[in-house]
Amino acid sequence: MMILHQFKDQPLAVFGLGSSGIATALSLQQGGAMVYAYDDNEISREKARKAGVSVHDFRGEAWQTLILSPGVPLTHPEPHWSVIEARKRNADIIGDLELFYREIAGKAKIIAITGTNGKSTVTALIGHILKKLGENVQVGGNIGKAVLTLDAPTDKTIYVIECSSFQIDLAPSFTADIAILTNITPDHLDRHGTMENYTRIKTEFVMRAETCLFGELPFDYDLTGIASLRGEHNRQNAMFAVNALADFPHAKIQAALKTFPGLPHRMEQVGQKGDVLFINDSKATNADSTEKALLSFKNIYWIAGGKAKEGGIEPLRAFFPSIIKTYLIGASSNDFAKSLDGYAYDACETLENALNNAYNDAKGKEAVILLSPACASYDQFANFEVRGDMFRAMVQKSFMQHS
Ligand code: ADP
Repeated sequence: MMILHQFKDQPLAVFGLGSSGIATALSLQQGGAMVYAYDDNEISREKARKAGVSVHDFRGEAWQTLILSPGVPLTHPEPHWSVIEARKRNADIIGDLELFYREIAGKAKIIAITGTNGKSTVTALIGHILKKLGENVQVGGNIGKAVLTLDAPTDKTIYVIECSSFQIDLAPSFTADIAILTNITPDHLDRHGTMENYTRIKTEFVMRAETCLFGELPFDYDLTGIASLRGEHNRQNAMFAVNALADFPHAKIQAALKTFPGLPHRMEQVGQKGDVLFINDSKATNADSTEKALLSFKNIYWIAGGKAKEGGIEPLRAFFPSIIKTYLIGASSNDFAKSLDGYAYDACETLENALNNAYNDAKGKEAVILLSPACASYDQFANFEVRGDMFRAMVQKSFMQHS
């Protein structure tokens, strides 16, 4: 954890007490700042109190800096009351990423990753390669650990930081040594207002960096047989990772690519029985993400459905003729069945039925059973992680233990 001395003896407001907000408050308190930390939710306030945070409504207090959690609306759909309060007194509004940067600027190297898709994969892959190369690497940000819970820098530390657009919005001086912009497509416009605004935030952030990587770059690595890097999108992710590490030996990077374990729920291979592969792509909560998976495999027995997004699976219509059969689960079943009229499908209701039916059909056929729902999970599961964990557990229990 980092101890921040930047605000020693100064009052400041911290709003939003999730895990990164709690870490921020504690880092500042330990550095001697007078912290007023608050959240609208009593359960979060209680959790923060238990962690040792000085929880206090700051409306009537004197302070000139607000540290805001990235999940709290800065502008859209409308500014949160803490933001209005800060504007009234002309206070700075920043986030944990900015504090982190001010603390480590000039002391350690930073590789920052942003973009609409692929951030976590690129971040994890760079972290993995650097570890394999024996470097002192700290990975965090929007993935895994909040930045202020990472270890303080030594002269050899390399920080690999995934940055969401919300975090970037609150980090006006953050300047990476190497910044990667994976891609930009419309997303989170409810928070950023317009595509122009969203694009501007991302591009300004990466253009400040010493080296900035985006678009198509040279890439002559062999990804054949690397299960965690299947598909064209993962070739792009690997391309960004290795270009960010251009100063390191080619052969060692190639070796490290081969041992990348991948991230859970993103085309994660969770088992193989005979000639049938089981793939957990539960993170695919919309058609765009599912498209990436459908492009990455052949002989697909597809498990899809849940709480549908606008348009459902219609954007995937071009793939229907090549999908061998679709197994429908969840609330979207009737709508998706209509889309699939004329193609083979099976209304299974539950994930368990879908898995069993798919296996019965797929065995002996050199096939892939792909859970890539193109839907949110909330109709049947707490979140996409629970959905994917359940799929993995069912595959292991039903198909792996005795094979
Ligand atoms: P993020 O952290 O930006 O959400 P992830 O690495 O977790 O990205 O990948 C999330 C999903 O985005 C994947 O399941 C895949 O469908 C899609 N994806 C990953 N990499 C790319 C890419 N380079 N281009 C387009 N889509 C991608």
